[in-house]
Amino acid sequence: MRPAALRLAGVSKRYGRVLAVDDVSLAIAEGEFFTLLGPSGSGKTSLLRLIAGFERPDAGQIELGGKDVTAVPPYARATNTVFQDYALFPHMTVAANVEYGLKVRHLPRDERRRRVAEGLTMVRLAGLGYRRPNQLSGGQRQRVALARAIVNQPEVLLLDEPLGALDLKLRVEMQAELKRIQRELGITFIYVTHDQDEALTMSDRVAVLNGGRIEQLGSPVDLYEHPANEFVAGFIGVSNLIERDGRRLVVRPERIRLLRLEETPEPGSHLEDGVVQDVTYAGMVTRYAVQLDRGGRLLVVQQNTESAARASDFRGRRVRLAWRPEQAFNISAAQSEGPEQQANA
Ligand code: ADP
Ligand code: MG
Repeated sequence: MRPAALRLAGVSKRYGRVLAVDDVSLAIAEGEFFTLLGPSGSGKTSLLRLIAGFERPDAGQIELGGKDVTAVPPYARATNTVFQDYALFPHMTVAANVEYGLKVRHLPRDERRRRVAEGLTMVRLAGLGYRRPNQLSGGQRQRVALARAIVNQPEVLLLDEPLGALDLKLRVEMQAELKRIQRELGITFIYVTHDQDEALTMSDRVAVLNGGRIEQLGSPVDLYEHPANEFVAGFIGVSNLIERDGRRLVVRPERIRLLRLEETPEPGSHLEDGVVQDVTYAGMVTRYAVQLDRGGRLLVVQQNTESAARASDFRGRRVRLAWRPEQAFNISAAQSEGPEQQANA
């Protein structure tokens, strides 16, 4: 069996009183698109810096390609990092920026030329090598940063919120580009983001971080369909939680049917009556906030497949919510006050 591209075993890192990374263990396969997802301050960048070697862990082991690199400096690791702020040299051309790492490593000139041309083609900037960074758009600059990393042919590419500075339209475009590049190169990507949509659309697997700990690790479908706890259920998707008979139930808003009282529900459905408090029309969908008679409030999302005329006359009305029992899942309460309280104690 081939060794994992990356293996972390019990890795921890403390900054003063903050436990930024708390006993993290995971293994990432070769060629995987792996995402570290979590809110600001959850330890994503700290973990990435440990993998890159910019920091040493206080405890635990880091292996790349089956070799223990815990004490190996960054330049001797088979990793490269792409940062959110690009960190390009403003006085150098695009080509010189991309070539920089190859020069540092004293690669022969022909080899450098060849790799720079390939790298720029890969990120669709062929022909723009003569420009300076300030003559490029934000998206193009991020492509240069990407080209500069991939010409070094790292085994693992680390990306720390690389699209964070781009507007939404460009971000979505670059998400698809990054996926394409990763597929074509076949190298392992470890991608950091706080954006759940980005994580779900791009990743083979995702680790959800909170307070320096992994709350859950799984495929996008696993995380959305079977969140392990309240934190994951709320962070990925909308936290649609009610308590019934001492159990905490999560139902995704698009799995709930909104019925008028006179409509007949599907046999076997779980039913809840309530009052529509709020209606938000959002083009493709309409969102309804419903206060339930038995307590609790649920968000319902209905696709506007026909006309939305029906939407507004639901405000203030009594309705019935219906879902198939298997669409609601039991979850445990939030676990992770632990590390943060420890840190602040
Ligand atoms: P994220 O990237 O998920 O936003 P970070 O890894 O940057 O989170 O930070 C995790 C925690 O560690 C935060 O509480 C942050 O303030 C703290 N931290 C990170 N780096 C340092 C540092 N160099 N010195 C002190 N505290 C740090
Ligand atoms: Mg960060």
